[in-house]
Amino acid sequence: MRRFDSWGFQLDRPLVISGPCSVETEEQTMATAVGLKDYDVDILRGGIWKPRTRPNSFEGNGEKALPWLKKAGEAIGRPIAVEVATPQHVEACLKHGVDYYWIGARTSVNPFAVQEIADALKGTNVPVMVKNPINPDLKLWLGAIERIEGAGITKIAAIHRGFSHYGESVYRNQPIWQIPIDFRLERPDMPLVCDPSHIAGRRDLLFQIAQMSLDLGFDGLMIESHVNPDEAWSDAKQQVTPDRFNEMTIELRQRNRTTDDSSVKELRGALEEIDRLIIEMTSERMEVVRELGLIKKENNVAIYQPGHLAKMLERRLLKAEPSGLSKEFINNLFDAIHTESIRQQSEVFYDNPVSKSVGSKVS
Ligand code: PEP
Ligand code: MN
Repeated sequence: MRRFDSWGFQLDRPLVISGPCSVETEEQTMATAVGLKDYDVDILRGGIWKPRTRPNSFEGNGEKALPWLKKAGEAIGRPIAVEVATPQHVEACLKHGVDYYWIGARTSVNPFAVQEIADALKGTNVPVMVKNPINPDLKLWLGAIERIEGAGITKIAAIHRGFSHYGESVYRNQPIWQIPIDFRLERPDMPLVCDPSHIAGRRDLLFQIAQMSLDLGFDGLMIESHVNPDEAWSDAKQQVTPDRFNEMTIELRQRNRTTDDSSVKELRGALEEIDRLIIEMTSERMEVVRELGLIKKENNVAIYQPGHLAKMLERRLLKAEPSGLSKEFINNLFDAIHTESIRQQSEVFYDNPVSKSVGSKVS
């Protein structure tokens, strides 16, 4: 799918946004842009106001740096993208002709802040990209997007940049891929971009995260680049030189999106058949569940029997390892099965059966 077509990008590869974490100096911005000029970059990014976790580090040059980024974009014939966190940022960006706007993770977490930005954007219809909030809350991400839509903005993309966590991890921000996958189900037409730089926090993980996102059908990438990454004033460990960026995007292009290999067709056919069996067996299971429901009803026994459920789940979890399935998956699978079981038994019990939003766990 080519979700960025409606933005005016006719690409047969993912949309790519690159440029420095921060616009540090006019020279650094121009040198980085010139380094990117001949590569697959569609939009030049640069941080003007930097939301730093702790004070006393570089917080961006502010409005005076906007002309530096604009000039760099013009020099290489690319539009520019800037993060906005307040209505004043929006106003400054509009004044300086910023082409693309993004809302950062520390802002999208706060509905008041997002609403203020949305109000400032009313009537402009500039393209806006909304990063996921720092906490793994899909609804909050969707809500931020809805606020921007409410301001009449029609070109909106989502950026997955990972989620905060406490304790050791190889990632700076956990990718929790299930969230962008669920996002895609909620908003199938909205372009989805991956920001591997802020997920990884380190150069050596960038490629594999970018590759994973493309394998999951993401529409674009935002990758931080810097003419001299080791000396960067922010996020030094995760930025790459324009040349390294280019090597990476060339390698990413090697993966084919589709294939007509006949063995793929065959395996897909096998999956089709297995899924048919899964549905058939689950439906058989529900028949047994309903029969059990009838007996419970006749004996005036409650549907929900937590003690029994815990023991049953324990036995199912023992099968996880030998079957090569994760415990989390077994848990989720039986959670879904029990939710449906409760609904089925409630149909046996009541005229107005409980809906699927009622808690799961029934035997
Ligand atoms: C950034 O892109 O420079 C940035 C601050 O990102 P995030 O909001 O994802 O932390
Ligand atoms: Mn950064």
